[in-house]
Amino acid sequence: THFGFRTVAEGDKEHLVRNVFSSVASKYDLMNDAMSMGVHRLWKDDFVSLLKPGKKGPIKCLDVAGGTGDIALRILDYAREKYADRETAVDVADINPEMLQEGYRRFKKTMYHNTPQVSFTEANAQDMSHIPSNTYDLYTIAFGIRNCTSIPAVLEEAHRVLKPGGTFACLEFSKMTNPVLDTLYDQYSFSVIPMLGTIFAGDRESYQYLVESIRRFPVQPEFAKMISDAGFTTGSMCEGKGGAWTDLWGGIATIHTGVKL
Ligand code: SAM
Repeated sequence: THFGFRTVAEGDKEHLVRNVFSSVASKYDLMNDAMSMGVHRLWKDDFVSLLKPGKKGPIKCLDVAGGTGDIALRILDYAREKYADRETAVDVADINPEMLQEGYRRFKKTMYHNTPQVSFTEANAQDMSHIPSNTYDLYTIAFGIRNCTSIPAVLEEAHRVLKPGGTFACLEFSKMTNPVLDTLYDQYSFSVIPMLGTIFAGDRESYQYLVESIRRFPVQPEFAKMISDAGFTTGSMCEGKGGAWTDLWGGIATIHTGVKL
């Protein structure tokens, strides 16, 4: 690959991922819109609507790999708009300080700024040892887990920090179920996305990396198995083919959930 991931040590991957997001942080939201033609917003809306934060009263959420706070903001808006809930809180955790900085800046313009409803912390999804076990009702990770060196380590930490009965929810790029569309999508990803990276961010390699990381991520049933291997009960919220996930746009992205018993 461009970054020679097949030859570099796993520890180096973390370093490379950190650099990728530092280089794109300030343009991240713009690039997301350009690459997905705004569709990532719909997927994120679907993700949060499925989880219905605030429905059973205020909850404590951890949004890991939370970047610029897209999911956190949706969770807080959803709880407030649907259930007049101003107590649900989201702690945003991300390995990259520049991404968190963008999120913090963005939240400054919202009613949640300087309230206990939101916080930003630099942390690695694979090691959340600063968080006591059984702390959160909801753990979200959107377009982040594929960048982590060890998916099982992330899932193990997610399971640990959730309270019994708490929900793990992941939104991630996935595998299109229709092979013809999948081929077209592949061509789009490998040609258009690195080109947009060059135009908008002057950084082809970072975007090439993003496309490659999507291709390497486990397909839906494999990832569902990893979630259940981590101790979660899957399939209670999503009505996908295997009962454990929901495909969005034919599998370009997928929502997986699991509940800690
Ligand atoms: N969740 C946000 C969203 O949906 O807009 C951001 C997604 S962005 C594609 C991926 C994020 O994962 C980046 O902010 C990156 O810094 C973060 N990340 C990568 N590896 C991580 C790790 N090991 N632990 C925590 N965050 C990580």
